[in-house]
Amino acid sequence: MGWRVTETCPQCGGLVTMEENGRLFSCPFCGVRHAVIWPDLPSYAFAGRYDGGFLFLAPYLRFKGNIFTCREDAVLSRVVDVSVKAFNLDQAPFSLGMRTQSMRISFAPEASDACYLGSYIEVSEVLRRAVNSMPERDPGFHRAFLGEVISRIYLPLLLDGKVLRDGLSGKELGTLKGGAAILDGLITKEAPRRPMLVPALCPECASDLTGEAMSLVFVCGHCGAAWETAPAGLTRIQVFFAECTKTGSLNLPFWRIEAGISVPGQTVNGDMPELLTTWTPAFKIRPDLFLSLARRLTSSTVDIGLTQDRLGAAVYFPVTLPAREAIQALKVILYKCSVKKKIIGPLLSGMKVTPRAIDLCYLPFDQSGYDLVCLCLPLAVNKNSLKFGRSL
Ligand SMILES: [Zn+2]
Ligand SMILES: [Zn+2]
Repeated sequence: MGWRVTETCPQCGGLVTMEENGRLFSCPFCGVRHAVIWPDLPSYAFAGRYDGGFLFLAPYLRFKGNIFTCREDAVLSRVVDVSVKAFNLDQAPFSLGMRTQSMRISFAPEASDACYLGSYIEVSEVLRRAVNSMPERDPGFHRAFLGEVISRIYLPLLLDGKVLRDGLSGKELGTLKGGAAILDGLITKEAPRRPMLVPALCPECASDLTGEAMSLVFVCGHCGAAWETAPAGLTRIQVFFAECTKTGSLNLPFWRIEAGISVPGQTVNGDMPELLTTWTPAFKIRPDLFLSLARRLTSSTVDIGLTQDRLGAAVYFPVTLPAREAIQALKVILYKCSVKKKIIGPLLSGMKVTPRAIDLCYLPFDQSGYDLVCLCLPLAVNKNSLKFGRSL
């Protein structure tokens, strides 16, 4: 479950709600559509409800994603959602907790509107805590993150005399013996950066870009160019299509990654490839299904012909899993595909994986009962699992 984000439309002033970490701002009142581009970590804030004191915004870092553990017997996957207090004030809650899941957030406001506490922990610390929150203590041969979103969420806190209160519920959290002076060392002048809202129009031909709420890549309906929401703005990327003669009713996106594999101090032998071409879903889906799709595509012997010419006016499923996430999972996929797990497993921690080519490829699928069936490979994806993946 994510929070709902409420923002004012820059065009008409209407109140628009969108999904947390959504990439498409679409106003139902005036029809304006913008790609949401974050310069660094997405930063949101709850709106403080209580008056009668000094209101300030305190940062929490949130990790939401999957963690794979490669063990001798199997690859385990676990969905983890943790938030960690990123400032030093003992009386404040340790985490955001579950109580706030139904509440609304907005992009963190400009510095002039709010007083912020500085964030003193690094992203690596949140990853460490996410791993520590898992019941499996044994790290196995290797651990990897998949599909994670790390965002900064500001909780309003209120200092009423010396009493610290939760700015959402008004609940008393404790007493600051030193009063407001304690906050002096914690307050920062650096406000989090707000996202750029860039019109969802093709920078090449100015036609409407097609995409959904969580799309990381927008495709031009007119000229077929594909644009990624990179920190610098909409950046053109190369897209390939399966050269399959039949046109599917839906095209699903996959990353095809060519990576060099090496283990320092080890000579590569037949058990481990020197160069690996892997295929992974470029959309969010349950981690076990992600792995099983990646394994079946990667180990398939069918030669998928690819072309840069778009075939027909097909529908394109949104890319919701960035290439860097797929890269993080490469060792896990290699391990999953390997028949000699006892040999490969102990090598994973020292293994170097160097991506050499990363391509976004669409494969055509057709409806068949509850499944979508690939037209070029023996591969089926349950329709409901795609719906579920959109909420991950
Ligand atoms: Zn509007
Ligand atoms: Zn275009």
